[in-house]
Amino acid sequence: MDCLFCKIVAGDIPANIIYQDDLAMAFMDINPQAPFHALIIPRKHIATLNDVSSEDRETVGHLHWVAAKLAEEYGFAADGYRTVFNCNSHGGQTVYHIHLHLLGGKPLGWPPYQDTLKVPV
Ligand code: AMP
Ligand code: ZN
Repeated sequence: MDCLFCKIVAGDIPANIIYQDDLAMAFMDINPQAPFHALIIPRKHIATLNDVSSEDRETVGHLHWVAAKLAEEYGFAADGYRTVFNCNSHGGQTVYHIHLHLLGGKPLGWPPYQDTLKVPV
């Protein structure tokens, strides 16, 4: 399968890996958007959040547990941080193997967009 993050999981492409266990892996983002910017991914290939099956629920929850653990380890848990899954084109997803962005180390702007929402709710 031609997936960049599967290649990182397999060790075929180098990455600055900061965490690994049997379900997940975390490495620093190559184009950081904050002083600390890591990606936490499942070892299993799941293309988008839309493809998460019921048996993947523990894995996807686990990615958030890893995020909180890393925030503590790198010293910005108390100040705060952001976790983000981008999904498909409107979400800004560019790599189609789900990854949880973990951003921290400075106050992060919110909302992340400037245009006014006109979606009926
Ligand atoms: P997204 O736009 O949510 O799909 O995020 C993809 C992220 O992967 C971006 O923040 C990229 O900077 C990052 N990225 C792409 N290639 C690599 C790589 N080889 N190693 C680490 N991060 C990468
Ligand atoms: Zn993959």
